[in-house]
Amino acid sequence: MIDWRAIDTVLLDMDGTLLDLHFDSHFWLEHLPRRYVELHRLDDATQETIRARILRDQGSLDWYSLAYWRRELGVDIVALKREVQHLIGLRSDALDFLVWLKQAHPRVVLATNADRESLDLKLPLTGLEAYLDAVVSSADIGAPKEEQAFWSALQRIEPFDPARTLLIDDNSVVLESAREFGIRHLLGILQPDSQRPERRLESFSAVDRFARLLPETSPSQEESHG
Ligand SMILES: [Mg+2]
Repeated sequence: MIDWRAIDTVLLDMDGTLLDLHFDSHFWLEHLPRRYVELHRLDDATQETIRARILRDQGSLDWYSLAYWRRELGVDIVALKREVQHLIGLRSDALDFLVWLKQAHPRVVLATNADRESLDLKLPLTGLEAYLDAVVSSADIGAPKEEQAFWSALQRIEPFDPARTLLIDDNSVVLESAREFGIRHLLGILQPDSQRPERRLESFSAVDRFARLLPETSPSQEESHG
């Protein structure tokens, strides 16, 4: 599926790709609306308004900013996230894949729309950083991955050859944006949220388990054969 000899750089999305999107879905659509009405002593029906508000503006830089939501909703988003942080976890065989990447040594870069406050919460809880050569947030760059400006800025920070780069991301708008920029190898995720059914991505290949991307014979086996 992937010719690893043709890849120098692997750009990895975080939420829904390496990490189970269930935490985010649950937090933004269940926990936050519920705690919001509790903290502001509002009618329970207000939860629906908050959900609709949260779903609006998806894909904008503000939408990914915890500080923005703290201002908009008047609640401590990080503190509320900590209330359900036990749901933050790696997706299926993401850890095995990261371990394999580390010994196969392409450059491995986390390219995420999560802001620094999200990263400060999730990286220590998941141990991801040990497997990453760099972490780049769209908040640092000032443009989300959905925009071309993200990729050109990323290339200045982390030089990569688009023809020899693989991006794995569960967001088809992001994959489309990366394709437009010229990133040649693109892969989606069939089931970003472990609690929701698989879906098909229309114009991209997608995987369920990362094991499907690995060569049949691992380099360590080759070594043992002499
Ligand atoms: Mg994602």
